[in-house]
Amino acid sequence: MPTTGVNGRRIFGLETEYGLIVRDEQGKLLSAPRAARELFAHGPDFSQQSATFLTNGGRLYVDVGAHPEYATAECDTVEELLAQDLAGDQLLLGLVSELKQRQPQWQVSLLRNNLDAAGNSFGCHENYLLRRFQAGRILTTALTSFLVARTALTGAGAVLPVPESQDWRFVISARAEQLTGEYSSGTTQERPIVNTRDQALADPGEYQRLHVIAGDTNISQLSGYLKIGGVLMVLSALEAGISFNDLLLTEPLTQLRALSMSANQSLQERIGHGVAAASKSLDSSGAESGVNPSFPQSPQTAFESKPASHGFLGADFLLTLTSGKELKASEYLIAIAERCGARKTDWQVPGLSDPQKFAQLWFSACEQLADPNGGELLSQLDWVAKAKLLIGSAKRHPSLTRIEAQRVDFLYHELTASLAAKLHAKGILPLLIPAGNIRRSLVEAPTETRAKLRSELIAAARQAGRELSVDWFRVALTGGGAAVDLPDPFATNSEQVPRFLAALNEEPWFPL
Ligand code: ATP
Ligand code: MG
Ligand code: MG
Repeated sequence: MPTTGVNGRRIFGLETEYGLIVRDEQGKLLSAPRAARELFAHGPDFSQQSATFLTNGGRLYVDVGAHPEYATAECDTVEELLAQDLAGDQLLLGLVSELKQRQPQWQVSLLRNNLDAAGNSFGCHENYLLRRFQAGRILTTALTSFLVARTALTGAGAVLPVPESQDWRFVISARAEQLTGEYSSGTTQERPIVNTRDQALADPGEYQRLHVIAGDTNISQLSGYLKIGGVLMVLSALEAGISFNDLLLTEPLTQLRALSMSANQSLQERIGHGVAAASKSLDSSGAESGVNPSFPQSPQTAFESKPASHGFLGADFLLTLTSGKELKASEYLIAIAERCGARKTDWQVPGLSDPQKFAQLWFSACEQLADPNGGELLSQLDWVAKAKLLIGSAKRHPSLTRIEAQRVDFLYHELTASLAAKLHAKGILPLLIPAGNIRRSLVEAPTETRAKLRSELIAAARQAGRELSVDWFRVALTGGGAAVDLPDPFATNSEQVPRFLAALNEEPWFPL
């Protein structure tokens, strides 16, 4: 395969938006802006723009909608990315524990998911560096088709209320319900699979940033690994000019929603709710409480009337290709990986430090998805682990009411409850990233990208007691004097650094 990425390397970053629920000593819910203010009262000072960038090269801030968001530094391996992302959990948990010390009577929940009970949606954005001249090859239905199908492995699972009833339904992806199109420049009013806002955060003549906003936030490290690794694999193949024209999906978004619903019926049967509850959920119409009212809430389509009995919990969904051919999700995902070269012993993919390990996990997960009995590896993926927790809960609470099912869902993503940590500690979810790497990522930036330089400049300015104005592509001294441009995401040094370091000890040009 020709060299892909940028000289065989790729840069990527992950944004995770968190849910924050704070109740005071009377049990009264704090407004979202107040909750965020309380959480960050002694954290980074958001009146200082530089404070949102951290010495690990990432960015922690309060986003529109007053929820905390952590964006990792630019990484060049998927393992590094996962470590940097998980460091975000630890940073926020540290702030939660400080808040609990200040306000011991308050209840604080920190959620790593995509939807809260009030229907507020949080994003998980994946960012991949592209060569600008390659973008036309990449921003195609081949990419969105793949992003739809990968959900069968990488969805986080969610319990959703069925409007005007006490029933609930299980979806493989919470995010699938929120999406409104394939490609668009919007992220709030419209929610496309790929956001096409042209913001390279690097030299725009040379680069473009692919902004995928369709994915679920994962708890399982394995799900996260397959989610990012799968995109790295497909980007590299698209750049190499490999054709996926015989693997395009018709109506990607409609099929995504249908795929997402495909495990519901079997799950309801397994926990004893029978077909009635499941089909009722499909029949129901009307908007879900407070959630994205423009979204058609009755997702009954030709795709859903297909038999949903393939593979584990019926989730090996039959995808329809533009040729009219049908492939199960597992077959489709295997075909994509094979087309990308994943069976070859010398397979290389920018960003995958161990492509053979990735391929083995990918193929095994697909094979287990196709198996009605599933398998150990499949059980380590988020939506499957959650479905199994629901089945287990139904043994203890046979009727498994909507509230009980939502509680299981909530706890799966609630970081302060440490259920995720327990699931990892017990080996129910695999630990791919050593705890030491996550601890290191709290303070250290990736060493092979411009994040290293950003980190060093922030540390030097902090030591000199100088304020900075920082962005992904620039670090400037507040008050003037010097700046370091970072147009090349791979550059770990700059000829502007000596001037910057000298200016740290000079008087600011204008009073601060
Ligand atoms: P939002 O979507 O929240 O409105 P945004 O996507 O424009 O904002 P940030 O939230 O600041 O921006 O996050 C940017 C992410 O992109 C970070 O994770 C960062 O590491 C990554 N990133 C920065 N530059 C590049 C680049 N040139 N190519 C790929 N990823 C990048
Ligand atoms: Mg962001
Ligand atoms: Mg973003």
